[in-house]
Amino acid sequence: VLSLRGIRKSFGDTEVLRGIDLDIDKHEVVALIGASGSGKSTLLRTANLLEPIDDGQVFLGGTDVSDPRVKLDAVRARIGVVFQHYNLFPHLSVLDNVTLASRAVQRTSKARAEQRGLELLAQVGLADKAREFPDRLSGGQQQRVAIVRAIATDPELLLLDEITSALDPELVGEVLELVRTLAEGGSTILMATHEMAFARDVAHRVVFLDGGQIVEQGPSQQILKHPVQDRTREFLTRFT
Ligand code: ATP
Ligand code: MG
Repeated sequence: VLSLRGIRKSFGDTEVLRGIDLDIDKHEVVALIGASGSGKSTLLRTANLLEPIDDGQVFLGGTDVSDPRVKLDAVRARIGVVFQHYNLFPHLSVLDNVTLASRAVQRTSKARAEQRGLELLAQVGLADKAREFPDRLSGGQQQRVAIVRAIATDPELLLLDEITSALDPELVGEVLELVRTLAEGGSTILMATHEMAFARDVAHRVVFLDGGQIVEQGPSQQILKHPVQDRTREFLTRFT
């Protein structure tokens, strides 16, 4: 679904991504781990073309979408994104948040978009919140709505950037459960996370990023339990 080839990105004099090659297959769930500042968010943003790259290519479904002639909006419509903070539009109801993209980008009729939106909200137990504004919801409920909004357009790929790290601990579980359900349902997911237990249980593959490079990657159990590289070991000892 997604292939990154030789991605390089600098901010000023600092090279934040130093030649990233990464492939995500259809139905694959990949956890991106690494210390703060290692480049996880930047990597996710380049995959969604939110961050212009200095070198390399981004392929989505076999097409080079980093080609400047490609229309960004068309590419972004194929990717669902959820960030740590500020995911919902505060002035729109939950349902309007969820249906906005399908109505604007896919030109789905209001009635159809709302029917689908209500279905999805019902699946995550939030049907009764459809007409509320986001500030009336808990943080966990807001993130679940943000996930619903991201999947409402049936994207080929979901990018999740530390979507539980701003939540109160008691709200983390409900959001992770939803991600687990999506993963089991066959969604293709690339997620930056500090939830190592979750990565071990849900991700098929773990990718460890350090200093803007992929240091080690492989099956989740193997990387998290028996890392080969010193830098991976050192990083993981902080979580045990
Ligand atoms: P965290 O775990 O804290 O979210 P991260 O792995 O997501 O960290 P990034 O946010 O990708 O790390 O940042 C990587 C480096 O790039 C950091 O040194 C950061 O300061 C720098 N950086 C990120 N965005 C910008 C920007 N817009 N302008 C300048 N520097 C930036
Ligand atoms: Mg980050």
